Amino acid sequence: MQIANNHVVILNYTLKDNDDNILDKSEDGSFCYLHGASNIIPGLENALSGKASGDTFSVTIPPEEAYGIHDAAKAQDVPRSMFPPEQEIEAGMQFNAEGPDGQMVVVTVKSVADDTIVVDGNHPLAGVTLNFEVIVMEIRDATAEELEHGHVHGPGGHHHDA
Ligand code: ZN
Repeated sequence: MQIANNHVVILNYTLKDNDDNILDKSEDGSFCYLHGASNIIPGLENALSGKASGDTFSVTIPPEEAYGIHDAAKAQDVPRSMFPPEQEIEAGMQFNAEGPDGQMVVVTVKSVADDTIVVDGNHPLAGVTLNFEVIVMEIRDATAEELEHGHVHGPGGHHHDA
């Protein structure tokens, strides 16, 4: 079986940046996704197309096919008064905020001054080239319910309350 749309794929991966730092790593067989449903970044999904169970490969994915380029305009100064006064604010904290189109975006606190806080709405991996080492563990057909939901059910996937 080769990876194609509407297949559930279980894989192991190690993700490194260009300085060989490990950014993320899957536990044994715990990562799965529905191929063709944009569950994962486009560069990785494209690289997986046509691979077979047991295949091992490395792929380098530019930011444009991963979490996007870093957009300096998404960093902005926010008055301290926009945050709850009782809340301690520190660099590295993340908040949900409303984006320009009303969608929820995660912003990361970059720096804190007395009355101004600099927040950055870029994805933490925006602008980062991603180097994946991948082992394809298992491929199966998605169930009708998985296709309807657009994601994998069961171990490593979504769980719904009945
Ligand atoms: Zn579901």
